[in-house]
Amino acid sequence: MAGNKTFTMIKPEAVAAGNMGKILDMVIASGFRVVALKYTRLSHSEAGSFYEVHKERPFYGELVDYMASGPIIAAVLEKDNAVLSFRDLIGATDPAQAAEGTIRKRFAESKAKNAVHGSDSDENAAIEAAFFFSGRERF
Ligand code: ADP
Ligand code: MG
Repeated sequence: MAGNKTFTMIKPEAVAAGNMGKILDMVIASGFRVVALKYTRLSHSEAGSFYEVHKERPFYGELVDYMASGPIIAAVLEKDNAVLSFRDLIGATDPAQAAEGTIRKRFAESKAKNAVHGSDSDENAAIEAAFFFSGRERF
């Protein structure tokens, strides 16, 4: 059975553009409950660890630089079938391919600067949530 938690980040360019409130509003309006929420910034080495799974991909260095370039919002979200439901809400990695009404269609600047992260599996959602949040920061 699919799990009910996912992990997200509002990425640096979307925070810098002042879109965090609008993005969180779309998330909550789509039926996700906020379990944990934090305004923080990844160091370069933390961003490198977070995206370790992508280290062989050609865009890894660019991705790590970008994710460490400014503050982000990190959150744990709860909904039935959370991982897939949230991937539907954010849309395709490349905003040019993202469906109408998705967060990336509305807010992403490019395939790299695509406004939000969403976990790709229940297992990674748990790992990513644990990267940012202790038990007492979850409600
Ligand atoms: P998603 O975030 O949709 O799960 P991936 O896990 O494949 O996408 O990639 C992780 C992140 O790396 C993307 O959200 C995006 O910020 C960046 N990225 C992916 N593909 C590219 C690319 N071809 N060029 C630059 N950055 C990319
Ligand atoms: Mg991914």
